Amino acid sequence: MKDLLENNLGFMGAGDSYEEANIAIVGFPMDFTVSFRPGTRMGPRQIRSVSEGIEEYSYYQDKDLVNASYYDCGDVRLPFGNVQESLERIYQVAKQLIKDDKFPVSLGGEHLVTYPVLKAFGEKYQDLVVIQFDAHADLREDYLGEPHSHATVMSKACQLFGGKNIYQLGIRSGTREEFQFAKENTNLYFEQVLEPIEGIVQAVKNRPVYITIDIDVVDPAFAPGTGTPEAGGCSSKELIHAMLGLKNLNVVGFDVVEVSPIFDVGDCTSLLAAKLVREAMLAFGT
Ligand code: MN
Ligand code: MN
Repeated sequence: MKDLLENNLGFMGAGDSYEEANIAIVGFPMDFTVSFRPGTRMGPRQIRSVSEGIEEYSYYQDKDLVNASYYDCGDVRLPFGNVQESLERIYQVAKQLIKDDKFPVSLGGEHLVTYPVLKAFGEKYQDLVVIQFDAHADLREDYLGEPHSHATVMSKACQLFGGKNIYQLGIRSGTREEFQFAKENTNLYFEQVLEPIEGIVQAVKNRPVYITIDIDVVDPAFAPGTGTPEAGGCSSKELIHAMLGLKNLNVVGFDVVEVSPIFDVGDCTSLLAAKLVREAMLAFGT
C-alpha cells in the first residue's frame, strides 16, 4: 500500500505506527469529476494543516485525542484525469485498511471518492447502512452521460446496499427525478439534519454504519469553502450535534468530503472539517 501514498503532513498528534493504530486517516485528493468548481484535491492537506489550530480535547464528549491511537497514512497518489484508475487505487487502499481492522477516516476530495470505499466495505458487511449528510441528493445515474461523477455517488451506494439502507440528511438540491427516486427508494430528509437522528438510531442500531459528510450540507455562510455551495443549509453547530447523536451506533467508517480551500474564507470550512474529524475519531474510533 505504501507505494500508493504521498504527502503525509499528518493530522494533529497522529502517531507514527500504522500497526498499533486503531484509526487510520487517509486523503483522497481527487476533484476531476466535479460538476461546477474544482479545488477539492487540496482539501486533505488543508484540513491537516489547520488541524494544528484546534484542541485535542473535546468538551462535547469529555474525551481526548491524546488517549486515541491514530495514524495518518497521507494521501493516495492519483493519476490525475484517470477516473477509473484513481477509483481503483482508492478501493485498494480502503480494502487494505478494512482488512487490517482499522477505523478509516477519509478526507476528500470530491464525493465520488466515497464510492470505492463503500465498495470495499460492502465486501465485509452486506448489511451496511449509509448515512449521508449533504445538500445534494447525489442520486443521478449519470452526469451529462458520465456515470462516474460526484453527482452519482449515492445512486452507486443504492446499487451496492439497496436504497432502503441509505439515509440522506440535509438534502435541498436535486432534480425532480432524483427526489422522486428518493421518495420511492431511499430515506431522504429534506433540509433536516438534527430532527431525524433519534428515529434513525432506533432503526439501524446493531447494524454496521458508514457516515459520509459532504461539507456542503452546512450553509455556505458557515462553510463557503466547497465546490458546489447551496444556500439554505444547517449551521455547523447543528451538524456537529447531529453527528454526535449517532455515537452509540456501530459506526465502522467515516469520511468528510468536498472541502475546497481555494473558495474558503479564513479556513473556516477546513477548520470545521478538522473538528468533525476530531469528534468522529473520538465518537466512533475509540
Ligand atoms: Mn455530495
Ligand atoms: Mn453536496
